[in-house]
Amino acid sequence: MHLSRFPRVHLAHLSTPLEPMKRLSSELGIELWIKRDDCTGMSTGGNKTRKLEFLMGEALEQGADMVMTQGATQSNHARQTAAFAAKLGVKCHILLEDRTGYDNANYNGNGNVLLDHLHGATTEKFPGGHDMVAEMEAAAEKKRAEGHTVYVIPGGGSNPTGALGYVNCAMELVGQANDSGLKIDRIVHATGSSGTQAGLVAGLCAMNAQIPVLGIGTRAPQPKQEQMVYDLACKTVEKLGCPGVVRREDVMANTEYVGEGYGLPTESGIEAIRMFAELEGLLLDPVYSAKGAAGLVDLARKGVFKNERVVFLHTGGAVGLFGYDFSFDHSDRWVTV
Ligand SMILES: *Cc1c(COP(=O)(O)O)cnc(C)c1O
Repeated sequence: MHLSRFPRVHLAHLSTPLEPMKRLSSELGIELWIKRDDCTGMSTGGNKTRKLEFLMGEALEQGADMVMTQGATQSNHARQTAAFAAKLGVKCHILLEDRTGYDNANYNGNGNVLLDHLHGATTEKFPGGHDMVAEMEAAAEKKRAEGHTVYVIPGGGSNPTGALGYVNCAMELVGQANDSGLKIDRIVHATGSSGTQAGLVAGLCAMNAQIPVLGIGTRAPQPKQEQMVYDLACKTVEKLGCPGVVRREDVMANTEYVGEGYGLPTESGIEAIRMFAELEGLLLDPVYSAKGAAGLVDLARKGVFKNERVVFLHTGGAVGLFGYDFSFDHSDRWVTV
């Protein structure tokens, strides 16, 4: 695929490493590798960096002097958009939706929120359940009336332009596998606003890589999640110039690890955070990657990935740990020797 046809700012640290996980593999009874997209750079990194390379490329091409986006209070996407805007010298305004109702100082002011502000972005808060798309359009119109050229980025950066970032990741990962003679049986990762999975599936199908992708849901029920991913994957391959190469059965999501809802930590997610941190020195986040890892761990224990070489795509998010510190009881780590 010739991605240089599309506007892009080259700010990500690529290629990200593809690393074997010795201790987790023996714990889970599978051969586990991790694609380190938590190391993409731009305010620590995460999956939004790859998407923002293309989104911000388009924003600059359109002459934007301001970008606007929206997300939950502890949105990683918001933080990374703020960092790109800082680097590129455009203004950034973020609409944050309170999807958890947490009345907690760290949740509302530390972690991603602190970094949004350090990068110079302005934020505006809305109660949960608000029509954030309409709010963002109204806010963008207001700024346009003031003379700004505003580029609006959808929540999670998930549209065909953003998904190109994960077409790029699919190409990179298959290249790494080919170079080292590594046959990948499956890719597993956390899915939310759908751009990551849609881009991966679009790229893999367009290359005829024949590697199944399993998205572990963090928000929507399965039919809705799969439909969102499928629709965006179809639009993405259209943008690439190879419409029709994604089949409905190429899109698979397991949404049994969402728990009570988006942004609300689960017991299995907290267990996964501790497991990855203690066995591999890796940091997951409670909103996305921990739920993705919880699915990976549970399905591996149930034998679903028997004899498989599985690549877990680490989508980042560890900054969120500092907004969710109250989810962890670590008092037993203070000891007297
Ligand atoms: C946004 C995000 C995801 C989900 O990616 P989508 O493209 O929105 O589906 C997964 N993990 C982390 C850490 C994220 O910030």
